[in-house]
Amino acid sequence: MEELTSTDESVRIIPLLSQFVAINSVYPHEKKIADFICRLFTKRKIKYRRQKVEKNRYNIIAEKGKGEKLIAIYAHLDTVAKSSHWKTKPLKLTVKGDRAYGLGAWDMKGGLTINLLTFMRYNPDHFRLRLYLCVDEENISLGAFRLIGSEQGATADCVISTEPAFQYGNQGIVVGRIGRSVFHVNLFTPSRHFYKYETAKDINLLAACIIKELTTYNKKTHYGKQFIFLRHMTTLTNGLSTPQHSLLEFDASSLPPDTNQSVLEFIKKTAYKMAQSFDRNIKIEVGYRYRPTPFLTAYRTNSRNAYLNILKKTIGSVTKHTAKPYFRSSVADENVFASEGITVLGIGATGGNAHSSNEWVSLSSLNTLLKILNQFLKQLDDCV
Ligand SMILES: [Zn+2]
Repeated sequence: MEELTSTDESVRIIPLLSQFVAINSVYPHEKKIADFICRLFTKRKIKYRRQKVEKNRYNIIAEKGKGEKLIAIYAHLDTVAKSSHWKTKPLKLTVKGDRAYGLGAWDMKGGLTINLLTFMRYNPDHFRLRLYLCVDEENISLGAFRLIGSEQGATADCVISTEPAFQYGNQGIVVGRIGRSVFHVNLFTPSRHFYKYETAKDINLLAACIIKELTTYNKKTHYGKQFIFLRHMTTLTNGLSTPQHSLLEFDASSLPPDTNQSVLEFIKKTAYKMAQSFDRNIKIEVGYRYRPTPFLTAYRTNSRNAYLNILKKTIGSVTKHTAKPYFRSSVADENVFASEGITVLGIGATGGNAHSSNEWVSLSSLNTLLKILNQFLKQLDDCV
């Protein structure tokens, strides 16, 4: 096994990151960057496979090493679309002091660069090391769902993601994320002449009661918030009649141990409970709003998790500061891996302006991330 020193791999961060930023990979156009990485692997004689997700879209999976344990390092290949008001050219990495500006530099071509440099260089002695590069993270996680549905994705013991660090810089470890889902509630009643109006048959009044009662779900804990709110509503009334159909759409953020399924049950129960003081003939239908992939469910890693503790020690020794595990109030591909029971830990570089103009990543923070990741793998090799 080769060990990393600060003089060899760190000097490669800028050239590789520049190449990644120069390739536009706004979803669903990840093919060019994926082809570039495949050529790089071929040149380096690194075995990899393409996993088709859709026409012209594929994940890349590479593996090296032998052993029972399987550790994966993950990055996504796509970025969001370029927004206006860039002061530099978004597809040209522009270095000013410690900041490297460019579209996706922070989210997450910086992390992608670190994962690639690590994977190409590190040769594990006692475990299998896998690289997961996925498409469509910035959209609906088509790549991660395709991966997790295959043998290559469902078997990892631990996935390390190098998404941007929003809190605590190089000391932070993302140990959990909220779940997020969208639900619909349909209320139906026969259309009646408007002079036959009755409060007990007013489905929009029932809708108002449901909206109000669902706020009992909302709470704030020491690590996150859960809530449900109405995001959209339509109602149908024909001419001089009473309302016959209401469609309500709710957005929900949930905290573990809640799952999207338990939020669905809660909404159903609430709707039926509120309907008790209304006409018996009102029909209620509750479900997920359709999308091609499932909504992402909440997770939180146990604080006694062995990988978490090795990572905490590694961060302590590299940064000389205590590691800070924290919970994040957004969803990512990490939720997809965690929903399969895989340990998922996030470490990232610092930066700014993700998903907006003048996005930048800290080069020194990328350098530290590279050291942390390599040191973590070495620690695993020593204790597996
Ligand atoms: Zn990201």
